[in-house]
Amino acid sequence: MRILITGAAGFLGSHLCDHLLADGHEVIGIDNFITGNPDNIAHLAGNEKFSFYKRDVSNYIFVTGKIDAILHFASPASPNPQSKSGYFNLPIQTMKAGALGTHNCLGIARHSGSRFLLASTSEIYGDPEVHPQAETYTGNVDPVGERAVYDEAKRFAESLTMAYHRFHGVNTSIVRIFNTYGPRMDLEDGRALPNLLKQALLGEPLTVYGDGSQTRSFCYVDDLVDGIVKLLYSNEHMPVNIGNPVEMTILQFAQAINKITGNSAGIVFKEDARSARDPQMRQPNISRAKQILHWEPKIDLEEGIRKTIPFFKQKLGLA
Ligand code: UDP
Repeated sequence: MRILITGAAGFLGSHLCDHLLADGHEVIGIDNFITGNPDNIAHLAGNEKFSFYKRDVSNYIFVTGKIDAILHFASPASPNPQSKSGYFNLPIQTMKAGALGTHNCLGIARHSGSRFLLASTSEIYGDPEVHPQAETYTGNVDPVGERAVYDEAKRFAESLTMAYHRFHGVNTSIVRIFNTYGPRMDLEDGRALPNLLKQALLGEPLTVYGDGSQTRSFCYVDDLVDGIVKLLYSNEHMPVNIGNPVEMTILQFAQAINKITGNSAGIVFKEDARSARDPQMRQPNISRAKQILHWEPKIDLEEGIRKTIPFFKQKLGLA
């Protein structure tokens, strides 16, 4: 296939490029680098099946030739208010990537007869009142809440995707991505894994926000990408959760990181600006992915963190 990936220089986009090239496809990547990093795709320079264009997906995208599939992964995604690459500091760009960017990609898919895959998010469930979250749960979100620029943009993107599917017959799919970690994460984006693993490798105490009783379920990137590609190759049109269902409190997560890295500096509890709007729990119900895609994650937290450490050490100058 000839595949277009938006957000190709991002954490997930770049891993998708690698996976799809390894599967023998031709990949065209676009990214405007507001949160993506050219280092993530530097190793693909010279690969004759890969081409790259610096573009903003919220502007009209011109592509020549037939496109068989489009994966729309361009968007800021970190909720950290302190991070300059987080969506709090890129609110308009985030809404434009989710709304106008999705519209542009669907336009190409419609005219090219392509399969379209939207990167959606567990954030569409908001601070959930149903646990774990199945795709049938419609969410607890606030259109004027502080996370709305991200979660409402993604909810709009899902609605637009279904409109193109139902009204124009476009072959669409929607993946709802839960917390994911691995090499090529932005160490400065303020999320739990980059913050805590960086602190552990530097021998510093780990900053746990609030009392650390809030839960998340962390998926290693290779497992996630494997699930996304299976969805791309399927004929499924309704949303599918992809994530690791092993749920833990953030305190347990921090303790596990200290244990795996041998960090003896302990944990400090910190009030964070985001605490008031932090979802209190999050765990994917992956029954649909298991049933439709025959997919489930294989890499546990310890193995995933061990696979992530070399990248962090290299970025921190510790390798
Ligand atoms: N968190 C933390 N310490 C940090 C960074 C994050 O305790 O240094 C917590 C944060 O409050 C949240 C969880 O870790 O409860 C996951 O945060 P992340 O930014 O990774 O993503 P989210 O799941 O909120 O989108």
